[in-house]
Amino acid sequence: MNQKTILVTGGSGFIGSNLIRRIINYTDYSVVNIDKLTYSGNPESLIDIEDHPGYTFIQADICDREAVRKVFSMYSPRYIMNLAAESHVDRSIDGPDAFIQTNINGTFILLSEAYDYFKMLSPEDKDLFRFLHVSTDEVYGSLGDTGYFTEETPYDPRSPYSASKASSDHLVNAWYHTYGLPVLITNCSNNYGPYQYPEKLIPVIILNALKHKSIPLYGKGDNIRDWLFVDDHARALLSVLEKGKPGETYNIGGNNEKTNLEIVHAICDLLDEMKPLAGKSYRELITFVTDRPGHDKRYAIDASKIRRELGFSPAYTFETGIRTTVEWYLNNNNWCTAVLSNKYQLERLGKL
Ligand code: NAD
Repeated sequence: MNQKTILVTGGSGFIGSNLIRRIINYTDYSVVNIDKLTYSGNPESLIDIEDHPGYTFIQADICDREAVRKVFSMYSPRYIMNLAAESHVDRSIDGPDAFIQTNINGTFILLSEAYDYFKMLSPEDKDLFRFLHVSTDEVYGSLGDTGYFTEETPYDPRSPYSASKASSDHLVNAWYHTYGLPVLITNCSNNYGPYQYPEKLIPVIILNALKHKSIPLYGKGDNIRDWLFVDDHARALLSVLEKGKPGETYNIGGNNEKTNLEIVHAICDLLDEMKPLAGKSYRELITFVTDRPGHDKRYAIDASKIRRELGFSPAYTFETGIRTTVEWYLNNNNWCTAVLSNKYQLERLGKL
């Protein structure tokens, strides 16, 4: 086994690219990134480290058993971090097939190939191997005005996306209990930050505002999410990988509950400061649109376990994280143009 090698799946996406950048820039590990490069996976997101000797990219589908097997045998990784997924709730409403295929079948292929690989390791290497599965707080369903998701909250997914992620979490747990594969699961709240594909709330707001287009807000804008800056998520994942106990789940959150309206206001106010419009505020672009079908009301994470047991807490507040994010989108118009050069043009999806 190569003790310094981490196999990351979905590393060309939003969280994966931020994670790989952190691993390459701040640790001694090398990374093998398997990514199919769907619409949301972009090599441009890793252009600054693509020539680093510790980085290898393989374009492959995690559902392709032969390809996955070959990667395990060629690179003999110590760790695998599974981030490859279809990730957008609105798209899962319009076309759930790809979500079932990648999120459920793909995770199954990875687990079974990881187990075949694991069985052949020496006892010492078996102790070091970990399979970290990256999941979402959406598996827990929706909260009312009070309460928090803990690691013990029963699963109650509501969208095709969250149901497919919940299924994959159950498979990962099954490989621990049935086969003894040393797995870890993380359930994280909403992420934001650089390199997020411009179909999710925060980049859509920023890019629409910069084009002086209306800023769409679902329903009354009163849905609540708990926001985490993406680099804090990457740090949390590394701490679970190195210090987490096999078979355990860790919730990751930012302690930043905000309504969607609060998010839009914060971004408009930053844009008013950084790129002011003559005689008006970006807030005037806000337009309320019909709500998403089955839109969960509130998500909030109790992240006390990861803080208590692994000593992890976020470094960014919402104010520092959102400022960094808005600045990044203002300075990286080329990336936005490149990733939007295919079909998707910021139009509304998942309306039924
Ligand atoms: P993303 O859509 O930006 O990236 C997903 C990546 O997976 C892309 O690079 C894509 O090309 C790749 N991919 C998709 N299908 C694949 C396949 N069959 N084989 C190989 N690669 C494939 O998503 P993200 O926001 O970076 O999310 C990454 C992971 O984190 C997902 O598992 C998601 O469920 C989870 N998560 C995301 C958030 C969030 O707020 N974004 C929060 C919690 C958990």
